[in-house]
Amino acid sequence: MSAATTNTASATGTRVLVLNSGSSSLKYQLLDMADGSRLATGLVERIGEATSRLSHTLLASGGAPGTSRTREAPIADHDAALKSVAAELAADGMGLESPELAATGHRVVHGGQRFTEPTVIDEAVLAEIERLVPVAPLHNPANLMGIRTAQALNPRLPQVAVFDTAFHTTMPEHAARYAIDVRTADEHRVRRYGFHGTSHAYVSRRTAQLLGRDPAEVNVIVLHLGNGASASAVRGGVCVETSMGLTPLEGLVMGTRSGDVDPAVIFHLFRVAGMSVDEIDILLNKKSGLLGLCGDNDMREIRRRVDEGDDTARLAFDIYAHRLKKYIGAYYAVLGRVDALAFTAGVGENSAPVREAAVSGLDGLGLAVDAELNAARADTARLISPEGARVAVAVVPTDEELEIARQTYALVSPEPARE
Ligand code: ADP
Repeated sequence: MSAATTNTASATGTRVLVLNSGSSSLKYQLLDMADGSRLATGLVERIGEATSRLSHTLLASGGAPGTSRTREAPIADHDAALKSVAAELAADGMGLESPELAATGHRVVHGGQRFTEPTVIDEAVLAEIERLVPVAPLHNPANLMGIRTAQALNPRLPQVAVFDTAFHTTMPEHAARYAIDVRTADEHRVRRYGFHGTSHAYVSRRTAQLLGRDPAEVNVIVLHLGNGASASAVRGGVCVETSMGLTPLEGLVMGTRSGDVDPAVIFHLFRVAGMSVDEIDILLNKKSGLLGLCGDNDMREIRRRVDEGDDTARLAFDIYAHRLKKYIGAYYAVLGRVDALAFTAGVGENSAPVREAAVSGLDGLGLAVDAELNAARADTARLISPEGARVAVAVVPTDEELEIARQTYALVSPEPARE
């Protein structure tokens, strides 16, 4: 299903409300695509619990923090959460009925093979997102709730789905398929889908811009290192490989997820340790990764412990960095020629020791960081490789909300968005 077949919406306003609905949270940002500026941002946490909280910030010009309001009162469900958000926005003169609002852009985690582009949502699109629930049981139901609530609040406003998987649908079949029985795989839609696609798309393009080059000419390895973490290989703006698979469990070591393990570990834990499939699921998704290795999943805390000489934290850090290095090498081989390696998300943007460890010893591949540039703190895109390096190493802050707003606006507006 492509944008062209569903692009029936059009808008006069230039603002886009970006919604990211999780199972118990709702994050939002209001952006003006006339200049890409942020007008408001906020978060509803602990939806469905007695301790729900809504934090809303009206931003000053240039996106600087402005006035903030926090409300602590039970919010029963996503419907109530979005109504509260709409009320906060309306109190600032930017409600969902505002003619300046062009569309709502929804982050949807799983778009399967069908959704290769951002898509204006109609009943057929909703049905397809629903059909994908078995491959994204934690995420797609929450995304659907957010969409249905937004539709009900303003049925005339175009709703656009921007899929985490879409950027990866260009992967060649030899990268997307697992080497398992084809019929079984096809019947159950078992293949590599990849996630964090909006971030990989944004960061690979921004990296090319940072080099002053056309994204179509540049090969980039992107390392998105947040709580969840994934790598991608992007050739000329097109994703050719990524580390997350059928679900966001595969690949790099993450905050609480194991990343790659021998699949037989699961049979072993089931047969020999007597664990249930649900227990193994929780073990690998929630109790593994950095947390399982050393009891902490925050890289700041792990580095503090390493600096104090804690051997358990040191080993966790080394396992994390070793996995990164393996993926850099593998994606170097996949691409053949690499112009840039880009670090992004919470760990990638902030942890100089992780960046240093990931490329250490890779001088032979033309990869190195300059110690001073790597240590310098900044919140803008920057190069950290030594002058004249064969491969540029960059830190590129991701901005998934801006990318979702950009893609949404491009679909509903006749005017191209400015970045
Ligand atoms: P999410 O995947 O939840 O969107 P983020 O991209 O915000 O996550 O990344 C969150 C993680 O970033 C934290 O758990 C922490 O490990 C790491 N992080 C944030 N700030 C720093 C910092 N200054 N130094 C090292 N790691 C950091």
